[in-house]
Amino acid sequence: MGLQEYFAQLGQGIDLVAECSGLSVPALEKMGASTHDVAELTCLHAIYFGSTPYTGKQRLAVDAARRNQHSLSTLRLIESFTRRVKELRAAWNLRVELCSTPGEQVSAVAKRRVRELRVPHKYRERALLRQHPNGLATLTVTGNGLDMTDAFRTIDQQHPGASFIARMLGTTDTDTSSDISPDSPAGTSPATRTRVTTMAVLRLEDYGKILRRKGDDVLVRTTSGAVITGAQLVERACANEGLITVISRVQGPVDLYRFERFASAKQRTMLAAEHPTCAWPGCSIPAERGQFHHLTPWKHGGETNIANLVTLCHYHNGVNEDDPNAPPRRGRLTRNGGTIVWQPPHTSR
Ligand SMILES: [Zn+2]
Repeated sequence: MGLQEYFAQLGQGIDLVAECSGLSVPALEKMGASTHDVAELTCLHAIYFGSTPYTGKQRLAVDAARRNQHSLSTLRLIESFTRRVKELRAAWNLRVELCSTPGEQVSAVAKRRVRELRVPHKYRERALLRQHPNGLATLTVTGNGLDMTDAFRTIDQQHPGASFIARMLGTTDTDTSSDISPDSPAGTSPATRTRVTTMAVLRLEDYGKILRRKGDDVLVRTTSGAVITGAQLVERACANEGLITVISRVQGPVDLYRFERFASAKQRTMLAAEHPTCAWPGCSIPAERGQFHHLTPWKHGGETNIANLVTLCHYHNGVNEDDPNAPPRRGRLTRNGGTIVWQPPHTSR
């Protein structure tokens, strides 16, 4: 086929599509079309000559495409835009408009229309944190426009991260405050800096192997050859605050001794802040004379973490119905959302 013939065919995209009527996929392939071409032609044929509730618009589109001598690639381009329009009627309106547009303007017109059809995003209050591989993180907060504008103005553009943190968390850390330029906006800073309690995970394989159980702990042979308990391993390997889970790739979490003896002082403080006295309704024994109580019992898989702990006096710790399967007599304490509640006898969770 000569070039002249090829160029003549180019402007007859819609007629080429029409010719596919009644031709099966194998028939088209037999004529030399690639699988990709066949799929595309069949798709275009279904749109311009297949059944649709919008036969009037379909006819308009075919006539316009023929009049403008749209090539197959222009028809493909048109579909790349119409498929972004979800509503069928709107998609047909766009198709008719683009078929009626001269080929070289199709792309520009389509982009404008698709932009216009886009449903405006519904913003709501939210906060997002993304951690980046280089140690930085991006905090995105959406809130009241005026407040956010005011907040944005307090950020020192020379040191945006450090000045923002100083505003949010206070400047008690010397390394943070030294990063803030002296001409950054002065003002009140929050009194205390809240720190997140970290839950560290210790991969046992990185430190040693479990030898055997010893009482309620495990014995671990460390990579240096020394044999120590799981408790000592955690103490050596980890910081002195936060909660630590030792996890084995083979055995999963190394169980039971878990956190109790490590974070107990911190947990005791936090629990006392929640309940200055025994948490049992009406009891006034001070928390510092109380005992840790597992809401979901230890032997039933309850963990020694804040969510599962409450401080009870000796007496109420004994009275609480620990076993969810035993007949309840005095009721038990449970955590409902963020609050400790007393669950009366003869009720189930
Ligand atoms: Zn009590």
